[in-house]
Amino acid sequence: MHVMVLGAGVSGVSTAWYLHAAGHEVSVIDRQPEAGRETSFANGGQVSISHPEPWSSPGAPWLMLRWLGRADSPLLFRPRADAAQWSWALSFLRECLPWRHRRNTAAIAALALHSGQALRRLRAQTGIAYDQLERGILHLFYDAAELAHAPARAAALGGFGVTARVCGVDECLSIEPALAASPQRPLGGLYAPHDESGDAFRFTQSLAALLAARGVDFRYRTTVAHLLPAGNRIAGVEVRHEDRGSETLAADAFVVCLGSYGPRLVAPLGERLPIYPVKGYSVTAPVVDAARTPSVSLTDESRRIVCSRLGDRLRIAGTAELDGFDTTIRAERVKPIFDWAGARFPGALDLTRAKAWAGLRPATPGNLPLIGRARASNLWFNTGHGTLGWTLACGSAASLAELMDGRTPDVGFPFLRPA
Ligand SMILES: Cc1cc2nc3c(=O)[nH]c(=O)nc-3n(C[C@H](O)[C@H](O)[C@H](O)COP(=O)(O)OP(=O)(O)OC[C@H]3O[C@@H](n4cnc5c(N)ncnc54)[C@H](O)[C@@H]3O)c2cc1C
Repeated sequence: MHVMVLGAGVSGVSTAWYLHAAGHEVSVIDRQPEAGRETSFANGGQVSISHPEPWSSPGAPWLMLRWLGRADSPLLFRPRADAAQWSWALSFLRECLPWRHRRNTAAIAALALHSGQALRRLRAQTGIAYDQLERGILHLFYDAAELAHAPARAAALGGFGVTARVCGVDECLSIEPALAASPQRPLGGLYAPHDESGDAFRFTQSLAALLAARGVDFRYRTTVAHLLPAGNRIAGVEVRHEDRGSETLAADAFVVCLGSYGPRLVAPLGERLPIYPVKGYSVTAPVVDAARTPSVSLTDESRRIVCSRLGDRLRIAGTAELDGFDTTIRAERVKPIFDWAGARFPGALDLTRAKAWAGLRPATPGNLPLIGRARASNLWFNTGHGTLGWTLACGSAASLAELMDGRTPDVGFPFLRPA
């Protein structure tokens, strides 16, 4: 079967990998000049199996009220005259109900565990390198109330099969000695030793290069303009080339992996994908003192900021902003990330040479990705991974390939329209 994957971010390229491995002829379309140039370009780098809890949680509405009107708040809602934004925000509130939060967390944990295993297998098979580190993720608490929840969180993670243990400040410092340089010490932490980190962009690029060498047809600078329905099927896609007009491309099946842009493309087919762009920022700084720079990936639970060591760089990421498709880098939003890096790791980084970036997380209200078949019989989705697209990439793509071959993945996840 010839499958056309629409989108060459980490989701699309991983999808191409598992479909090719299953014996399909695969082509990949993307509007950018190379793979991974949009949201997968400079994310936080965490393969964070120990953070399945979505932002939509019972405590989220109160936190959002507390942060309201603060330009530097971790979560910012910029209201627009945009029905999609308001409808998404209302659905987000519904996903904060305790039972929905519990259900979403369990489903994400199951897919994340499956993904972690798939990533390790893929790495062993290919020898692919992407500045990965298998040193775990240390969640840090600077707020006593949040630390008080850590034992219950560790127990809940244990229930899903995810190893995580509560640590005192001394153990946090022995896990990551670079934390000792900061005058502000954490009160405690939660350490997930099996988590990993790595550069999602390098991963995406390396995997795309391997696939291209194996005959997968990557078409870049090619924008998907329309899906062309014919009865209950998609007959083809109309694409626009940067330099040579439009054409129609045909395939037996199509997979939508277009990040935040998928909903617009499938809306004319009557498909309403509950995905809205949630903007986030990162800063990537060169390391000048390796001993003062963390190599264990960290999550500052009080500030909602994460960092990952990527070779001789430190990637620091955070913030969430509902601001439509705007990717402007706003100084007041990125400043807290620079300040955090300077205060937590004094002397470790050259922040004058750091690069700031903003990307749009393709987020569903409950952070559950949309994986499975659309209404059209040969159209599939692997999209909407929100805060966890890198963590969930391999497991989502492997599951989709199984679904497309008529098999049921052995994962406790609510796939779309199971057979
Ligand atoms: C600040 C920040 C930090 C993050 N940190 C983490 C983290 O630590 N761990 C984690 O797991 N996740 C993290 N994420 C989330 C993760 O980066 C995303 O979920 C993931 O990159 C989404 O991948 P994707 O392939 O679905 O989307 P994308 O990478 O955006 O890929 C979509 C592709 O579709 C293409 N496209 C779109 N429209 C068209 C069209 N019409 N025609 C042709 N091509 C088109 C785009 O060019 C793009 O290449 C973070 C995100 C942000 C913003």
